[in-house]
Amino acid sequence: MPEQLAESIVQLALRRGFFNPTAEIYRGPAGFYDLGPLGTLMKLNLINYWLDTFVKRETSFEVYLIDGSLILPYEALKASGHVDKFTDPKAECVKCGRIHRLDQLIEETLGLKVEGKGIEDLQEIVKVQGVRCPNCGGELTGFKEHHLMFKLSIGGGGEAAFLRPETAQNIFLNFKRIAYAMRAKLPFAVAQVGKSFRNEISPRQSIIRLREFSQMEIEVFFSPIRGDGPSKFEDVGDTVIRVLTREEQKRGDGGEAIELRARDAVEEGIVPNKFLAYYLAKEVRFFQSLGIPPENMRFRHLLPEETPHYSGGNFDLEVKFSFGWKEVVGNAYRRDYDLTVHSKHSGEDLSIDDNGVKIVPHVVEPSFGVERILYAILEHSYREGVREWPILMLPRIISPIKAAILPLLDRTALVAKAWEIYTWLRASRLPIYTVYDDRGSIGRRYARADEAGVNLCVTIDHQTLQDNTVTVRDRDTTSQIRVKIDELEELIFNDTYRGLEQ
Ligand code: AMP
Repeated sequence: MPEQLAESIVQLALRRGFFNPTAEIYRGPAGFYDLGPLGTLMKLNLINYWLDTFVKRETSFEVYLIDGSLILPYEALKASGHVDKFTDPKAECVKCGRIHRLDQLIEETLGLKVEGKGIEDLQEIVKVQGVRCPNCGGELTGFKEHHLMFKLSIGGGGEAAFLRPETAQNIFLNFKRIAYAMRAKLPFAVAQVGKSFRNEISPRQSIIRLREFSQMEIEVFFSPIRGDGPSKFEDVGDTVIRVLTREEQKRGDGGEAIELRARDAVEEGIVPNKFLAYYLAKEVRFFQSLGIPPENMRFRHLLPEETPHYSGGNFDLEVKFSFGWKEVVGNAYRRDYDLTVHSKHSGEDLSIDDNGVKIVPHVVEPSFGVERILYAILEHSYREGVREWPILMLPRIISPIKAAILPLLDRTALVAKAWEIYTWLRASRLPIYTVYDDRGSIGRRYARADEAGVNLCVTIDHQTLQDNTVTVRDRDTTSQIRVKIDELEELIFNDTYRGLEQ
């Protein structure tokens, strides 16, 4: 059944234009996907909802948005540590030549958690335990660290550069400029949405592991001396978060998450500071509003061997998918690491004045993966067996199409009236994307709309011609109401915000 769900999602995505492999007609390389017409609208809606939640409506501190370059110079990524350390271990099968990501292969075949272990240790495990190629049973060889950045050369001189492996680095590189230009005072944050690139060894699970993907990241800069938190911490302090502690992970069965309030997580020293706890709480609320139930979310405290040496603690938000738990947001307490290394390598002073005290701020970073979230939403909204066709009960704010305009019958007068309503709604300045459909029976059209996650179906019938009313069918309940045409624009718009926090 689990694999079936993932397969149903992929088939639906292909059939209805959510996503498909890049350069499909040439059988392009793995790990690249294009979003189709519906996937693109869905992604834009997700980004807008995220910006609304984490940038525009944030009043605990100022959040500035930037849009940085995708190509970064060698020096910057050398300083950040990516040039030397951003690698995954790999091995090759002697017989079939297939390249495997070694830590993953060991985890899958032996059930051992080995992320963060060095190549020699992994090679030893393979030797002692007799791990072989899962594809053909062949022996493994060519144990190496594989570099995850795509290398480029700039201009005629061939200056070395890379496609950025995370959006975060642009933010650190712009820190001083932003602080001055915006007259920023601590605490403040900088957010960015955009593409990141990682030359993954074996990308898989459709849009879950990609070589080119999108991130929505925030870096919050704060004083480590003051020991305070976001001014609106109290608003979310009671939110229950589920934490998979390091102790629990050591248990043979993988462990159980403990439930506690965000405020208690800080007080009990489980989460290192209020800025981090604030984001964990906000993430729970955000994902709940996107249809992910709390029991399908947990924050995994990364084990010491998985945590970078400079980090004050990493808490991955994992969501339960049909194929198991998977990280969708990385939350890290990066301390002053990035600003300090960039300051040292560039020679620029990246400290800031905080009420007369010169400090290098500390940083908390929530890093959201767009495609993984889109996929999580698709899996959690997919319903089979309710009607004769599959339904995508998408969060209404995220649905690509807010309403479908349908003339009940193929009669000239009904078609003309439906078209008139459709063109009026398309001209609306409100963010309500609508489509028109007059192909096939009304039942077939409802089925198509349900499968594409269309929130509302607006049907134009004979009564419409008499009294200027239409029926509006709700995707989730199929209940219908009759409303005046004049009220439609606002109704579709208001419906988009149904179920969200005020
Ligand atoms: P990380 O910096 O590795 O913690 O990544 C932050 C977030 O980016 C993750 O939680 C994922 O949602 C997303 N992400 C990282 N690597 C990939 C990938 N190869 N494909 C798709 N999304 C990714």
